[in-house]
Amino acid sequence: MSEAITLAGCSSPKASDAQRPVLRERGQREVFCGLTGIVWLHRKMQDAFFLVVGSRTCAHLLQSAAGVMIFAEPRFATAIMEERDLAGMVDAQDELDRVVDRLLERRPDIKTLFLVGSCPSEVIKLDLAKAAQRLGARHMPQVRILNYSGSGIETTFTQGEDTCLTALVPEMPIEPAGATKRLLIVGSLPDIVEDQFLRLFAELGIEHVGCLPARNARDLPPVGPNTRYLLAQPFLAETAMALEDRGAVRLNAMFPFGAEGTTDWLRAAAREFEVDELHFNRVIAPGRERAKRAMEHARGELEGKRISFLPDSQLEVPLARFLSKEMGMEAVEVGTPYLHRAHLQNDLALIADSARISEGQHVDRQLDRVREDRPDLTVCGLGLANPLEAEGLTTKWAIELVFSPIHGFDQAGDLAELFARPLRRRDRLEV
Ligand code: SF4
Repeated sequence: MSEAITLAGCSSPKASDAQRPVLRERGQREVFCGLTGIVWLHRKMQDAFFLVVGSRTCAHLLQSAAGVMIFAEPRFATAIMEERDLAGMVDAQDELDRVVDRLLERRPDIKTLFLVGSCPSEVIKLDLAKAAQRLGARHMPQVRILNYSGSGIETTFTQGEDTCLTALVPEMPIEPAGATKRLLIVGSLPDIVEDQFLRLFAELGIEHVGCLPARNARDLPPVGPNTRYLLAQPFLAETAMALEDRGAVRLNAMFPFGAEGTTDWLRAAAREFEVDELHFNRVIAPGRERAKRAMEHARGELEGKRISFLPDSQLEVPLARFLSKEMGMEAVEVGTPYLHRAHLQNDLALIADSARISEGQHVDRQLDRVREDRPDLTVCGLGLANPLEAEGLTTKWAIELVFSPIHGFDQAGDLAELFARPLRRRDRLEV
């Protein structure tokens, strides 16, 4: 495996954030694969089904990440490829057709079926795009069949959502001719959080607001040159490109974490839709105040503490901004699997120059730096947490941040609390 470390950018940090030095690393990685996204995507899109074409390992991962649904009809499954599929002794496309036909016959409630690629299906070059096209022609209009990759080859787990949403973009209707400007929230949010944002946009007077993904996968909002979109998640680079190919324009903002991030995110839309500044302040003031009060609860534990992020969820940069600017923590290292400078520029600009920003993964070197830095809190993947705890370091599981509602004013207190809890636990253990 090739190993490389390079320091990109010029030597005067913050001369411009586009030139901020970034430590780039390539090496062994410790992350979940894109199949993990099915856990939150199947809850969001209530008429969709995710059929992973993979191995027993893929099935185990899904089952243990999502838990077993006993009382409900599950909305994900794995078509397990057996040895004879992998050895090319049978036509895997025929087998897949049989599985899909059986599934759709048994489950008429499925309106969108995602065929999800995995490492094994990619290794044997099983063409799921072709399968989706063939099966789609057979089952349309009752069921729309799409495909995307959840494989763990050279990816991290949040990319599963990115590839899934990218597959949905071509299905979004074309904006009607002469359409008025509309807003699109991009990124899967828990329904309760999405409702809070939709209420705020309605109060601001922004009328046409859609969400990608939509709760009903058959109910996608239109897209076109009159669409302005706000990214709710920082890991949607491909989706953003697909939307821009259809004419949509991204609104530049911080990500909606904490009181300041949420205000900035809402303000970007308010400006674009020419909402009066006084009206904007009046609408957001109660939520903003609530967020600040709720965050105070965790301030005692977080203020002045040092934090390092190992590259994992791609939420690292906006969360480091939130913790350092709004909670008074010191970011020591902010490692992220991929650094999308354009999407992250507003958050990145507010992270102190003293913080080491790294992109990519080389788990051994990163662990060595954590051991040397000895931060008060290390945010990392599940597999790294226990060994670090055994060495006396306090950790936080990065994946928990993806599964928890953390966006917006009303979740700001809970978000701060997620970081305060391990520090509190450590203090109790030390007493
Ligand atoms: S997609 Fe690849 S990394 Fe993910 S569970 Fe299957 S085999 Fe493992």
